[in-house]
Amino acid sequence: MKKIGVFTSGGDAPGMNAAIRAVVRTCFYNNIEPYGIYEGYKGLIAGEIYLLTSKDVGNVIQRGGTFLKSARCKEFHTKKGRQQAYDNIKKHELDGIVAIGGDGTFTGANIFNREFNIPFVGLPGTIDNDLFGTDYTIGYDTALNTVIEAVDKIRDTANSHNRLFLVEVMGRDAGFIALRSGIAVGAEAILIPETQTYINELVAKLESGTKNHKNSMIVIVAEGDDAGGAYEIAEQVKQKCPNYDARVTVLGHIQRGGSPSALDRVLASRLGNAAVDALLANKTNLMIGVVNNQISYTPFSKAIKHHQKLNTDLLDLAEILSY
Ligand code: ATP
Repeated sequence: MKKIGVFTSGGDAPGMNAAIRAVVRTCFYNNIEPYGIYEGYKGLIAGEIYLLTSKDVGNVIQRGGTFLKSARCKEFHTKKGRQQAYDNIKKHELDGIVAIGGDGTFTGANIFNREFNIPFVGLPGTIDNDLFGTDYTIGYDTALNTVIEAVDKIRDTANSHNRLFLVEVMGRDAGFIALRSGIAVGAEAILIPETQTYINELVAKLESGTKNHKNSMIVIVAEGDDAGGAYEIAEQVKQKCPNYDARVTVLGHIQRGGSPSALDRVLASRLGNAAVDALLANKTNLMIGVVNNQISYTPFSKAIKHHQKLNTDLLDLAEILSY
């Protein structure tokens, strides 16, 4: 291994810069030249591939987003696009690639690896925490902290006016952000795609909160919930209980930005380092994660086929503590 390329792909997540930095610095430690590929597969196809210096990754560990930029690239879905990417890898004599992204990124890498046999390893970079083969993904903890900070502020105003707030959080079709943040902010209810939402049950819960003289009520709604988004659910609640002063906040992309938390910086640093070590040890076509605080390796084929399961203990805890 003389040259390794690194890119970020799919949705950005806080901590991606810390991961790139760890890849680059580990390369230098092993006398390998690190190459930054800009905008994910798009840059691989366009040949936007540049040698990185140690200085390029100075002062980035604390920054959100990704300085290599990220993109979604339709051309990589085509054989022609992937051939172009292969030609560029050969042109730059890259011996291995570190791809930081989500399951789409790993699906592309898996297909590419089968076609062209270029050593690829993946790092889980997504705030959604839905990837199989790792307990935590890069960006998840920071997103959680962002949600918590925002909802704490909403709680202040909700308390002052005895209001019900429905707060919609990200996570696509998974409820990790909603469940953990809901527990952390003491939400009265948490609605997630993994469990069926019944509006009657939600209303009963809210009414019991009113009877218990709660000053405010917060319902965390995962964006992928089966009953709809926070606006739709608020409407359904209002139809059943017109006396509720229900307000809606959709947190949106604020959850994807910001300086990465300590947990994300350390996770990204460990994974970036492990990615280079894996390529040096001829481990390829797999995602590197952390399971029980140990580095773990999951073949792309497995990582993209399964989804991480929600911890049902946390579901029970949320239920008990919301009374
Ligand atoms: P996030 O979880 O943040 O959305 P992701 O990696 O899942 O991240 P996607 O947009 O799904 O994001 O995938 C990133 C890129 O991977 C796509 O833009 C595309 O270039 C490539 N890709 C995804 N699926 C495939 C596929 N089936 N074949 C080839 N390339 C793919």
